[in-house]
Amino acid sequence: MDFELDETAVMVRDSAREIATKEIVPRAASIDREGRIPPEVLLLLAKNTMMTLAVPEELGGADVGVVAYSAALSEIAKACASTAVTMSVTNMVAEVITTFGTDAQKKRYVPKIADGTLRAGSFALSEPEAGSDPGAMRTTAKKDGDHWVIDGAKQWITSGDFAGVFVVWARTGGAGTRGISCFLVEQGEKGLSIGHHEDKMGLRGSSTVALHFEGVRVPESALLGELNGGFKIAMMALDGGRIGIASQAIGIAEAALAAAVEYAKERKTFGKPIADHQAIQWMIADARTELDAARLLTYRAAYLKQTKQMFSSQAAMAKLYATEAAGRICDRALQIHGGYGYVKEYDVERYYRDVRVTRIYEGTSEIQRVVIGRSVLG
Ligand SMILES: Cc1cc2nc3c(=O)[nH]c(=O)nc-3n(C[C@H](O)[C@H](O)[C@H](O)COP(=O)(O)OP(=O)(O)OC[C@H]3O[C@@H](n4cnc5c(N)ncnc54)[C@H](O)[C@@H]3O)c2cc1C
Repeated sequence: MDFELDETAVMVRDSAREIATKEIVPRAASIDREGRIPPEVLLLLAKNTMMTLAVPEELGGADVGVVAYSAALSEIAKACASTAVTMSVTNMVAEVITTFGTDAQKKRYVPKIADGTLRAGSFALSEPEAGSDPGAMRTTAKKDGDHWVIDGAKQWITSGDFAGVFVVWARTGGAGTRGISCFLVEQGEKGLSIGHHEDKMGLRGSSTVALHFEGVRVPESALLGELNGGFKIAMMALDGGRIGIASQAIGIAEAALAAAVEYAKERKTFGKPIADHQAIQWMIADARTELDAARLLTYRAAYLKQTKQMFSSQAAMAKLYATEAAGRICDRALQIHGGYGYVKEYDVERYYRDVRVTRIYEGTSEIQRVVIGRSVLG
């Protein structure tokens, strides 16, 4: 058993760390305040292969594997959780197209995600009435000659207002999970409109929008994977996506812990730094321990995926544990800052808001427990 990252993963992690430190950290507070990620930041990530880390080189990707991807994503999340989720979803979209697409679909989209031409990819699964239960989706795709016509609404779509390509799920058959197919839809398609932008408590730099499909016509060639086989694609993509969100949560918590340690050494009460109080030391010790456990679970899931072994329940465990632990760590980090943790002058206030959603999207903690429970009980 080897607990070290290999040479490639170290190189990719360090490269992400450099971009994060030089280019993203200085902008993170304004990304949060202004509610948008400057396009040049996303382009910089793409130009450094960060949007397609686990995608084959012939499609423009870096092909460095899932462990390196996890390490890199945590580095970006340490700097800015909003930028990290944009990177995570875009990698996920590029991987879905690479795994399930035809040669023509791969060539049309993946190199343009890789070089930043498409800016980002969007994953349009959730609907107003179908989040944890995508089998309840109402969006439909009906055949009309050699086209599909999509009608319906999607909700909570990350980067939906500027992504160049969407992976969209729609009902093509009967009720339930077996009547769902997956389509590739381009930004600007006639009948596709961007709805309201969510006014979120955290992750404010990442755009989250509703999408409306009114008679959106796409050619037959836009079908991704098999007809009525879309649910399986969604579940497989989400298994991988959960490694991304676990990695994001770890990055946010690492930043919160580092801020807490620095503050604890500077801030004095009762004539000594608060780091000298045992209560503070215990909070820091618990945070460090939980972070290491989260990292190990996440690397295990990433390694299993990378080596093409079963990883679904391991990814759910990683996501469940890492996101819940990260929530506790950000909470403790804020507590260590006392009143200063509650104001925007200190970054820990942002970490606390940003981390909350990691327990909700790409499957809530409750849904991760459903996945893990099923795997244990058979
Ligand atoms: C900022 C943000 C970005 C997002 N980005 C995307 C995106 O890019 N693409 C996308 O498709 N979606 C996205 N989502 C949607 C997200 O995945 C859903 O919000 C999430 O899956 C939960 O669905 P819901 O909000 O409908 O909650 P519901 O499914 O209504 O759940 C409500 C509560 O019931 C619990 N619950 C539901 N079913 C069960 C069960 N079987 N057992 C126990 N408890 C249960 C849930 O855990 C939760 O606590 C995003 C959401 C947010 C907030």
